[in-house]
Amino acid sequence: MITITDRLTQTFNRIKLAAEKFQRSPEQICLLAVSKTKPNSDIVSAYNAGQRHFGENYVQEGVNKCLVLANECPDIRWHFIGPLQSNKTRDIAQNYHWVHTIDREKIARRLSDQRPPLHPNLNVCIQVNISGEASKSGVAPSEVVKLAQYIQQLPNITLRGLMAIPSNKDDIKLCHEFKQMQQLFEQLIHEYGTQIDTLSMGMSQDLELAIEHGSTIVRVGSAIFGSRAPK
Ligand SMILES: *Cc1c(COP(=O)(O)O)cnc(C)c1O
Repeated sequence: MITITDRLTQTFNRIKLAAEKFQRSPEQICLLAVSKTKPNSDIVSAYNAGQRHFGENYVQEGVNKCLVLANECPDIRWHFIGPLQSNKTRDIAQNYHWVHTIDREKIARRLSDQRPPLHPNLNVCIQVNISGEASKSGVAPSEVVKLAQYIQQLPNITLRGLMAIPSNKDDIKLCHEFKQMQQLFEQLIHEYGTQIDTLSMGMSQDLELAIEHGSTIVRVGSAIFGSRAPK
């Protein structure tokens, strides 16, 4: 039977091969294991195989896991990658290390205000609605700079880069969207320097294409933990 450890190894090999193919260093690419809907035992298996970064989509599910696993898996880095509601920001500010899905000033301000004083800054990415679909969250590409400026002056959160969930229609469209994200990312680096080091894109199906276009965090769920039951 194929284990989570095997699947992690396979995923690392995919990352390594893609990095080599596109002349990038594999160390520049962080694997985020997306554990939403999966039991704690799966997270422990991945942790024991050396995985440290985990992504969750639902605030409460992630907080529960974070609290229950605090002793067994002490140096997990929890990333929030789901849609944000302002009545949930306190739980996020208190429990997570990263948020990938900032899409408005109010949420950014609340996260900064609610970050506990003794915690290091919360790392954040701006989510970009790169496909322009009305159903997708994220800011329009033309709004990125304005939101980045706003986040820059908040004391307790640190802007690290951009995140996108592209349309999954066809490869040509996908490739175009990844390219646009890469350009936006380069603009942001130009504006703010090396503090901007994170481009969060690529999932189980398309991590190679994302790595080709400069991704530094690939968010991989089903390729590590198996398919999820439909919601
Ligand atoms: C679920 C999810 C993923 C992982 O998707 P897989 O196709 O299972 O790899 C990545 N990013 C986000 C935002 C997700 O919600």
